[in-house]
Amino acid sequence: MPDPPEGKMWCIACVLFAKGEIDTDLEEQFEASNKDGKKDHDQWFAAKSSYPLQVAVVQGPCAELMQLGILNLCWTHVAGVKIKPVSGLVPAAPIPPGLLRGAK
Ligand SMILES: [Zn+2]
Repeated sequence: MPDPPEGKMWCIACVLFAKGEIDTDLEEQFEASNKDGKKDHDQWFAAKSSYPLQVAVVQGPCAELMQLGILNLCWTHVAGVKIKPVSGLVPAAPIPPGLLRGAK
């Protein structure tokens, strides 16, 4: 994988997903080379995938990697949170007098 630009770091999610793709690629090539019956397995396995790596610009959770907590992420991988409007108006409960300053 290429190095990130000077002073930057890759989005962790981009790297993890890229690694996953590369591992899958290599696994397929390794199995194929095992099946061909040749004994010399000194060949270099090259990953075909080129998952686009992006520079981390924010810290936050990633929807797919919530269990890892707060990560350095690109805009694509930071989890978006949608605030749902409260359906129906909740009538404001009267504030108990004891909670209001000066009220008795
Ligand atoms: Zn990313």
